[in-house]
Amino acid sequence: MKPAPPAPTLEQLRRHSPWCWVVCERCLHRRPVAFVPLIIRFGPDASSNLIRRSARCTKCGGKGATLQHPGWLAWISDGSRSRENKLQRRPLSSQLALL
Ligand SMILES: [Zn+2]
Repeated sequence: MKPAPPAPTLEQLRRHSPWCWVVCERCLHRRPVAFVPLIIRFGPDASSNLIRRSARCTKCGGKGATLQHPGWLAWISDGSRSRENKLQRRPLSSQLALL
């Protein structure tokens, strides 16, 4: 069996987008998270698995999350433009609050 490819580093993810959705594995609550504060804290070569393992949900308190690139919303919500717009408008203002 082939070993799974290594998880991308925080810096590799940041090159594609300055932020991503962190989605709770238990209740699917999600929150936009900017990479720069994480890179300052853990370093650019830190594995993105760090976030997957240690993220704690602010809604249900569950530990463990998946990362979702913001661009992926485009094909997840195809045909529902109003929903897509709503989802894409929110993170920008939330992200500013984080910075
Ligand atoms: Zn949750």
